[in-house]
Amino acid sequence: MLTQPSFSLPTIYSSSYSLHKQRYAMPTTVHGHCLCRETLISVDNIEDYQDHRACHCADCKRTCGGAFSTSVIVPKRHIHYTGPIKEFTYLSRVPNGRVVTRVFCGTCGSCVAFRSPVFRDMEAVFTGLIPYFSTVPIKIEIWTKDRWNCISQFTDASQHKIVEGYSLPKF
Ligand SMILES: [Zn+2]
Ligand SMILES: [Zn+2]
Repeated sequence: MLTQPSFSLPTIYSSSYSLHKQRYAMPTTVHGHCLCRETLISVDNIEDYQDHRACHCADCKRTCGGAFSTSVIVPKRHIHYTGPIKEFTYLSRVPNGRVVTRVFCGTCGSCVAFRSPVFRDMEAVFTGLIPYFSTVPIKIEIWTKDRWNCISQFTDASQHKIVEGYSLPKF
C-alpha cells in the first residue's frame, strides 16, 4: 500500500515566503461580464480600490433599473473592457450640471461604468458585474436624500446627502 509522503517546508522558508508576499505581492486582477457575456470587464490592482459605494441618485436608479447602484472609482488605466460597449452622454441634474457618460453593453444593456469630468482620469465601475465585490462591504453612501424609504442604510457606511464630504481616492 502506498503511503503519502509527508512534506512540509522548513519554517525558515515559509516565513521568508510570507515576507516576500508582503513586499512583492502581485497586483490582483478581477473579472466580470455582462448578462449576455459579450462584454467582459477586468480591473487591475483591485486591492487598492476597496471604497465600495452605493449611490441612491435618480440617474443610477434609471441606469441600473434598481433602487440604487454600487460602484468603485478606479483609474482608467486599470479598467479593461472588450465587447460591444456603447456610451450615452447627458447633462445630469446634479447642482453643478455636470456632463456624465454612462457605459453599457450594446447587446444586452447591462450597465458597466460611468464617467464624469469630476472623476478626472478615473471612472466608476458598477460592481454588480464583478463577483469579487460580493464580499467587499459598502463603505460610502451618496445621494442619501433620494434613498427609498424601504431601504436601510448600510452598517458603518459614511452618509452623504448628495456628494459633499466625500472626495475621490488619491493615487
Ligand atoms: Zn451584454
Ligand atoms: Zn448615482
